[in-house]
Amino acid sequence: MADLVLLNGSVWTVNPDQPWAEAVAIKEGKIMKTGSTAEIKKTVGNQTHVIDLDGDLVLPGFIDSHTHFLDGGFSLLSIQLREVKSREEFVTRIKEKVTEMERGEWILNGNWDHQSFDPPELPRKEWIDGVTPHNPVCINRHDGHMVLANSLALKIAGITRESLSPEGGEIIKDPGTGEPTGILKDAAIDMVMKHIPEPSLQAKKKAAEVALKHAAECGVTSVHDMAYAGNIEVYQELLKEKKLTSRLCVYISIEEFDLYQKSGSRIPEGDTFLKIGGLKGFVDGSLGSSTALFFEPYTDDPEKTGLFHSQMFPEGVMEQRIIEADKAGLQVAVHAIGDRANHVLLDIMEKAMAQGGERDRRWRIEHAQHLLSEDIERMAKLRIIASVQPYHAIDDGRWAEKKIGKERCQTTYAFKSLLDKGTVLACGSDWTVAPLDPLSGIYAAVTRQTLDGENPGGWFPEQKISLQEAVKGYTLNGAYAEFSERIKGTVEAGKLADLVVLTQNIFEIPPEEIQNTEVKMTIVNGKIIFKK
Ligand SMILES: [Zn+2]
Repeated sequence: MADLVLLNGSVWTVNPDQPWAEAVAIKEGKIMKTGSTAEIKKTVGNQTHVIDLDGDLVLPGFIDSHTHFLDGGFSLLSIQLREVKSREEFVTRIKEKVTEMERGEWILNGNWDHQSFDPPELPRKEWIDGVTPHNPVCINRHDGHMVLANSLALKIAGITRESLSPEGGEIIKDPGTGEPTGILKDAAIDMVMKHIPEPSLQAKKKAAEVALKHAAECGVTSVHDMAYAGNIEVYQELLKEKKLTSRLCVYISIEEFDLYQKSGSRIPEGDTFLKIGGLKGFVDGSLGSSTALFFEPYTDDPEKTGLFHSQMFPEGVMEQRIIEADKAGLQVAVHAIGDRANHVLLDIMEKAMAQGGERDRRWRIEHAQHLLSEDIERMAKLRIIASVQPYHAIDDGRWAEKKIGKERCQTTYAFKSLLDKGTVLACGSDWTVAPLDPLSGIYAAVTRQTLDGENPGGWFPEQKISLQEAVKGYTLNGAYAEFSERIKGTVEAGKLADLVVLTQNIFEIPPEEIQNTEVKMTIVNGKIIFKK
């Protein structure tokens, strides 16, 4: 007999052999059976918890293939600047935050977006110095590739008008006075970050718990965390305390490979709640920070083509690290945004694959944002997974043409072209860059309607994908991207009972309505972890 049954629903299983079902039976954390309500009723015993779905849509639990999970938790606990639309509001929020903080305490996170300011302009330290005389500030743009530091933070880091930009980064200086403006990009961010005290294990656990609660509300039953080796300890504790409510697949920094090898820190083999996915690397920066690396200059800044990430130096080291990881049987997931970054990465991966011989590697390019047409083909040929974030398309789509021109935008977030060539799309949010809400990502992938409402027919509409493909991107393909498609990603007998129930049947409403759909219930391992 089943522990839990869901009856009278519309279950989109993502299993091509039986795409739809009415009901699901769950036992001991796994799916026992799917079928008609009449069939599943036969598994109901005295102890069975019966839920009548009353026609609601059920999908496999969402898998978010790219998050910064712990940072997400910390940002939920920190100052919120994402929705800020003006300089005044920006300063007011920071001023308010200071009143809740101890003298000397760092103000972090924030996730501001200057593209939402009217007019769009980068913030400056002068805006906030007056309200933050005793608190160092290092608040990031939502993409994490740019921060605003106040004068106190710059002082602590020893950054002055004489300081030189580090390789892979930039200290922005006022063209008139030569003074740092407070904006630091990519590698220059570390100059401040290294002075920020590491949060305690207790603080990290709190952040993880807040993030897990948020994931449950969003129907996210598995996440891939682009993390650091230090996160593993936090998750291991939560695993022991049985507090992991979503499954975590952790990718640690490729720079920490040696450290990881030596630490002997291993996760129990075969645990379905916590696993090491592999190693995460970076080739370049981001579009919004003008550090994504292109072959041609930025349209709005003809002096610049972007930056190689510091992990690319000394030359050849990325290739070496990928080869080492491959020898150790570890998957690699590497961030590449600009067309040149993607091209260089494909060259590296192609060489490393040739050296390591034939194998099911499932290497991933994180973002694969701007691609040359020939590289779209090459990705498919090399069977590299495109780990993409559809929400970025409707967010960056507001201003991307201004930055890189129309032509390059045609192969930007080119989801349809990637699919047509046979590449697997594993979808994610890149939370906190975008909201941890797969439904907004699905909406973005199928409509490509930019957030400013300027593209009602879709931004480069030929790159829209079908709803079925988008859902698959947030379920089965995410499982595939972490070598777990045999145990999750579809609603199918024998698989883990991770499910999500929605407030609307997204297959029966106009695509624009998908963004107004919410998660009604989230089930992980056969347990209800969220109910509206
Ligand atoms: Zn990321």
